[in-house]
Amino acid sequence: MVSRKLRANCHPAPGHHQGTLMRRLFATLAATLSAAALLTNLTVVLPAASGGAASIATPELREWLSYLASDELQGRAVFSEGFGLAAGYIAEHLRAWGVKPAGDPDQYLQTVRVLGVKTTSHSTVTVTVGGESKTFADGDGVTFPKNMGGKRTLTVDRVEFAGYGLDAPGAAHLDYRGKDVKGAAVVWLGASGPDGLDSSAYRRALTGRSRYATEQLGAAAAIGPAGSGRTGRAGGTGRAGGTGDPGGVDFTTAQRIDVPIAPNVAASEAFFEFLFSAAPAKYADLKSRAAVQAPLPSFPLAGVTLTFHIDADYQVVRTQLTHNVVGMIEGSDAQLKSTFVAFGAHYDHVGYAEGDAARGDGGGRRGGAPGRVTAGAENDRIWNGADDDGSGTVAVMAIARAFAEGAKPKRSLLFVWHAGEERGLWGSRYFADYPTVPIDTIVTQLNIDMIGRNRDDKASEANKVYLVGSDRISTELHNLNRAANASLPRPLTLSYEYDDPADLEQIYYRSDHYSYAAKGVPIIFFTTGLHSDYHANTDEVSKIEFEKMARIAQLIYETGARVANLDHAPVHDRK
Ligand SMILES: [Zn+2]
Repeated sequence: MVSRKLRANCHPAPGHHQGTLMRRLFATLAATLSAAALLTNLTVVLPAASGGAASIATPELREWLSYLASDELQGRAVFSEGFGLAAGYIAEHLRAWGVKPAGDPDQYLQTVRVLGVKTTSHSTVTVTVGGESKTFADGDGVTFPKNMGGKRTLTVDRVEFAGYGLDAPGAAHLDYRGKDVKGAAVVWLGASGPDGLDSSAYRRALTGRSRYATEQLGAAAAIGPAGSGRTGRAGGTGRAGGTGDPGGVDFTTAQRIDVPIAPNVAASEAFFEFLFSAAPAKYADLKSRAAVQAPLPSFPLAGVTLTFHIDADYQVVRTQLTHNVVGMIEGSDAQLKSTFVAFGAHYDHVGYAEGDAARGDGGGRRGGAPGRVTAGAENDRIWNGADDDGSGTVAVMAIARAFAEGAKPKRSLLFVWHAGEERGLWGSRYFADYPTVPIDTIVTQLNIDMIGRNRDDKASEANKVYLVGSDRISTELHNLNRAANASLPRPLTLSYEYDDPADLEQIYYRSDHYSYAAKGVPIIFFTTGLHSDYHANTDEVSKIEFEKMARIAQLIYETGARVANLDHAPVHDRK
């Protein structure tokens, strides 16, 4: 799961040449796997069991995870040696099970291109108030994100001032209550949010305000104040990247850069002065109220038109190569087999620390740590990522094997192990933009990220799994999942707590399913939640609840099987 926006200096390793990587991968794989492991995993795996959910059991999950989350794999940071070994390990298992390659033609690996881009912007916003117009250029009155999407001109004649632009039911603050902003441009003020709001608890919600307006509420554009952090790529547009990258790169992305996206700009005082010049409240007044976090009104800006002229030239100055691992099992129905149920997890984690260990006053420290250092474990330099997302990685392996060795459902099944999720959903973003099967033939995507623990390590969580997004696009999918759970010998306790759009952790945006949901594919995200070892160097195999993990994998298998045997694609009702 993604923990935060990327730091600018995340030391990307030099890009590998694809051929070199492949050669090294398999040479190293052969050299490092013991002969016994090769025999067990690759030769003697004959379908003793008849597949199906019951064949998903703890010994294999433990065996695979013990390798993937071992120190030998170095924390599986994208572009690293350990990450390449993980790719080879998954691919070789798919081959042994007879799962077909579905990445690049005849390959299990799909090359993912991660672009470092330099932006030259000629974009403007023209504001018209009561017949008078002013144009503000990018960098002079307004600031566009460096990744502002493809060229286009968009005129919006419905503009809504939404106060703080925040829905926080937990804090009894609902700026959008009773408001329909679909198709409107939303304007909000107040970088720190309203009084009484715990700004550290609500950090993700506050920095995600523009995204919430455009992606959840369907606003055509969002305008916030400069300096509120709202232009962050991950928070602002759902596109990953950071500024200040080495090499003069303005942003890093694995997505297409020519697709239009909803404008999301930071505006200056001069812009707001003019925008509110005919409004029921003056900007100076709104601004001083926002500065002391006093209640803000909300109202339509009558007679105001905004024209966004988006015109950026993108120069790709760096291309880094990595891989998704993709396999496919053909369905049994002549018609339906051209459609897919997709299962996914990310097989990368955050890597290892290059620096020395040290003890500080506030606990452990380590130079160059890619995540948290658990006190007392300062000497452990590897972030093994057993739960995040070794657990999902091996669960998808187990599901693939269960289908490969069991009865084939009507639809085909697609298995995608995504690269670079921790760096900004790279692999899934890339796959959604450059799918190896047509994206509209994927009727459902089931994403697994961290299903190996109990939330906060509480025993009371032992039977619980959190589902996110299951009814956002298709209620039918949600119901199929509930039926699948009810069919299990020991049903799990399903919790939808993280599914609240106002969820403080904003979990819905933090793993690979979101890349598919953004393309309209119904998804369910399965997780057992966060805990003290999340993104710490102590997320290790010894702490994994394998039996629970196996039961969740069975639930996902059963859910996928139900969707794959459905005579129609799950209905999109977008409740
Ligand atoms: Zn993570």
